[in-house]
Amino acid sequence: MIDLHTHTFFSDGDLIPSELVCRAKNAGYKTIALTDHCDFSNMDFVIRRIKRITDGLHRYYKINVIAGCEITYVPPGLISKAVKQARAFGAKIVVVHGESPVEPVPKGTNNAAILSGCDILAHPGYITEKDVQLAKKNNVLLEITTRNGHRKGNLHIAELAKKIGAKLVMNTDTHEPEDLFNKKKIKNVLKEANLTEKDFNQMQLNSKKLITKIFNF
Ligand SMILES: [Zn+2]
Ligand SMILES: [Zn+2]
Repeated sequence: MIDLHTHTFFSDGDLIPSELVCRAKNAGYKTIALTDHCDFSNMDFVIRRIKRITDGLHRYYKINVIAGCEITYVPPGLISKAVKQARAFGAKIVVVHGESPVEPVPKGTNNAAILSGCDILAHPGYITEKDVQLAKKNNVLLEITTRNGHRKGNLHIAELAKKIGAKLVMNTDTHEPEDLFNKKKIKNVLKEANLTEKDFNQMQLNSKKLITKIFNF
């Protein structure tokens, strides 16, 4: 399994990166991206610290570990700059925390994220049809999340993505160890969003293609 959106205690996750990665390995993961919440105040610190451990964990736990970040609540006008800065600090996967029905994320965040060159727009529950078209054009993956609360937007995202042909990705947005993928959770989330196991396989393939593109495998 591939999960490209998780949090450690470098932001609001419960676990130190080594424990999260070890537990992911035990849960059957092949690849995990560590994408802590970042804005301009902390991204140099967070991304560089995460990068210190990715190679060692990959080597000894035999799981691909990707340093990334989730640009969170950055004003829409500054998202593009934040994404560039995150990449300059070494983030290989850049997620943007999208407009969701359960949080007051600034209006315009989804659109600014899609135009910013980020890789994944996380839980964009309020996304418009126009922005789904733009995501398709700009090759930004739209996230179906297993996270409680944010997952209320999944059905809307899935319906528009299917209609327009935009690409989806499923991530856990793990904050606590029990948030990691398991079969039951995936099944429930697919059902809620009117998606099938075939769609799940396609979403995993979309994640795989993104990683391949990033690392030039
Ligand atoms: Zn988020
Ligand atoms: Zn998150």
